[in-house]
Amino acid sequence: MKLYNTLTRKKEEFVPLEEGKVKMYVCGPTVYNYIHIGNARPYVVFDTVRRYFEYKGYDVTYIQNFTDVDDKIINKANEENTTMEVISGRYIEECFKDADGLNVKRASHHPRVTEEMDHIIEMIETLIENGAAYENDGTVYFDTKAFPEYGKLSKKNLDELIAGASERVSFDEAKKNSTDFVLWKPFKPGEPKWQSPWGEGRPGWHIECSVMAKRYLGDTIDIHAGGEDLIFPHHENEIAQSEAANKKPFAKYWLHNGFITVDNEKMSKSLGNFFTVREISEEFPYEVIRFFILNGHYRMPLNFSRDLMQACKNGLERIKNCRNDLGYYLNNAPEGNADEAVLAEISKFRAQFEEAMDDDFNTADAVTAIYELVRYTNIKIKENISKATAEEIAKMFDLLCSVLGLLEAKEEADEDTALIEELIAKRAEAKKNKDFATADAIRDELAAMGITIKDTRQGVQWFRS
Ligand code: AMP
Ligand code: ZN
Repeated sequence: MKLYNTLTRKKEEFVPLEEGKVKMYVCGPTVYNYIHIGNARPYVVFDTVRRYFEYKGYDVTYIQNFTDVDDKIINKANEENTTMEVISGRYIEECFKDADGLNVKRASHHPRVTEEMDHIIEMIETLIENGAAYENDGTVYFDTKAFPEYGKLSKKNLDELIAGASERVSFDEAKKNSTDFVLWKPFKPGEPKWQSPWGEGRPGWHIECSVMAKRYLGDTIDIHAGGEDLIFPHHENEIAQSEAANKKPFAKYWLHNGFITVDNEKMSKSLGNFFTVREISEEFPYEVIRFFILNGHYRMPLNFSRDLMQACKNGLERIKNCRNDLGYYLNNAPEGNADEAVLAEISKFRAQFEEAMDDDFNTADAVTAIYELVRYTNIKIKENISKATAEEIAKMFDLLCSVLGLLEAKEEADEDTALIEELIAKRAEAKKNKDFATADAIRDELAAMGITIKDTRQGVQWFRS
């Protein structure tokens, strides 16, 4: 299994630190708004990475934080005349709703900055003791010159960075070097604050991830991931903090997703060219959003458009209809042994799927393998295959789809399905009693719900259109 490591700029074979285990940290959102389609990309992509590791038999510990202290949250609280806790609490909840809709599994832990303050202070103290940080008038800075490897992830040269920064901005006299960054800052009136050895204040952004990764995964972790905009400075600074504090390598593999773009520009809150997951979910089901994200390779840019969403919707429909047909076929399939030739054929689709995923999680090619399985299944169910054979196809279908987090039944869907099946049963009853007016009325009612029905020899089949 190969993955592209931003640290080495190469595809490398994955070798876990501890056999059979994967320790993975993914930077989470700052909670002051609904997540947009761009933010959904790391959610879906790294959830799929996790699922693939699990499919391969690894025990994955997956940590994703919530940044619940930040200027943007404080500003939003001031705008609404409420507290930071109310804002962050609200958007954490909304974020979970979207993540659940996208079928993103919950992390092993979702730590929050406000709950980790003692550990944050502890790590800053260690950095000062180790000579990698210094205090100036209530502010603690990381001393980038004290970490000679600074720049190793983003491939930036520290001296060039320092020269560049001093040309661009006026030099902050409180810092030793223009590249030094804040670990702790003193509070301003009206802001939330915590007691620390350097006075009342709050932490800078980067330190939280170093602390949470250490707390929940240990000093050295297998995989650290996030969007590519985090490579510099956020991840570069995390490496500096963690390695200067723990004196051990921080993360073995660094994975970064490319951007979701709109008209080839990064989708972002600051540019205002964003669509929230919530608003798009009103036009297209959540699972189509997930499928759209998986239709590109995670490191490549992916341009968001409604045309592409529609194409993804149609593609997913094809997969779902095929699985439904297979389900109906199974209800009345003839008994008999599993056909070895068919089993051999479907295991080729699995091999094709794995080959794609083993090559740096190429979900786009993995989807192609599923489409080929669909094509094959559509042919086979017209050939009177045995129930045992059809069951094997169904198992393969469900297995591959579940690695991508697709076609997994949800409670809501079940409720919906129950209603549809009840209406279909009523219609059958009406037809039996030659009450065709009622039967037609039920058909119209189903059509209004977007359900098409087809009378077949095996009974009534239905499809979502
Ligand atoms: P933020 O809330 O801006 O810190 O972003 C949360 C996560 O979403 C980070 O991992 C970002 O790298 C990622 N992200 C933000 N915008 C985009 C985008 N347009 N495309 C892909 N990932 C993004
Ligand atoms: Zn982070």
